[in-house]
Amino acid sequence: MKPHEGHAIDRPPWDCVHCKGTLHLNRLGGIATVTTATTPHAEIATPAGDNRTRTVLDHGFVTLIDTLGGDLTVVNSARVSFGKRKTELDDKDAKLINYLAKHQHWSPFRHVQLQFHCKVPEFVARQWYKHVVGIAYSEGASIDHAWNEVSMRYVNASEFDLYVPNGFRQQSDDNKQASLNEWVDDPQGLLRQAYVDHCRKALTLYQKLVESGVAREQARGVLPLNIYTEFYWTASLQALVNFIQLRTHPGAQYEIRLFAEALQQLIEPVVPMSYHALLGQAPA
Ligand SMILES: Cc1cc2nc3c(=O)[nH]c(=O)nc-3n(C[C@H](O)[C@H](O)[C@H](O)COP(=O)(O)OP(=O)(O)OC[C@H]3O[C@@H](n4cnc5c(N)ncnc54)[C@H](O)[C@@H]3O)c2cc1C
Repeated sequence: MKPHEGHAIDRPPWDCVHCKGTLHLNRLGGIATVTTATTPHAEIATPAGDNRTRTVLDHGFVTLIDTLGGDLTVVNSARVSFGKRKTELDDKDAKLINYLAKHQHWSPFRHVQLQFHCKVPEFVARQWYKHVVGIAYSEGASIDHAWNEVSMRYVNASEFDLYVPNGFRQQSDDNKQASLNEWVDDPQGLLRQAYVDHCRKALTLYQKLVESGVAREQARGVLPLNIYTEFYWTASLQALVNFIQLRTHPGAQYEIRLFAEALQQLIEPVVPMSYHALLGQAPA
């Protein structure tokens, strides 16, 4: 049984027979409860009327909060070398941006900054957080990483969602860090049910510890890695491109690839010329 058989893109599709009957964790009175969804969750979707957001997986999202600069910023940052400044973009600017991208003249792209609000499973956040170069890039690489995250020291984690996948991918034999494009056989959904039951037990224990007076900062130790976390992330266009190139690669974990694709979709309208020069098929 293959997870994505017969589909052009290598992700569990909306109408895949293998994805039906997905189990979702919902919140009810602060305790996670299990319901069976009538339709599988979309892997990436645009909510109606909100083109600055992409929902990802069952409860995740990426929202573009703010931007600094655009293609004109890149152009003027480069043209200042010649004492020139433009107020409108033309074909010469598209050529200039392509030239800068092709020859890795990165600094003009660093003047463009984008801020996102992200909600991702904890294990995705751990991978995301390895991208330490964010808003600043001074003499050498900087670790001025613009990242602010919800704290389980302040907030009771019973409020948090848990990610339940549409199915379980098989472990690769020859690549220790990878999964295969094959589902683990689970025709009656027993493995998935066990996964959900385990999450529910962990949340129940967490709740019990908190109600017994245990500090939230210690009680969180029993929570699973599929718990969702939220953060604000600001990065330069260069850092974003690096993130997208590394995390949309087939070698990256499937779940973070979806978030990287969502970022890609949100960046394109902000810097269409730079986007195509850096990530798309720029005209020669
Ligand atoms: C498929 C995959 C598997 C991975 N597996 C693991 C793993 O098993 N364990 C693990 O710990 N990590 C792992 N990582 C994380 C990886 O090692 C990087 O930390 C992460 O991808 C961030 O990349 P980056 O340093 O390019 O990003 P950023 O931190 O955003 O850096 C951007 C760029 O700045 C420059 N830069 C950053 N820091 C410096 C510096 N100190 N000196 C000079 N230049 C610098 C580099 O050009 C870099 O590409 C994995 C990443 C991928 C994509």
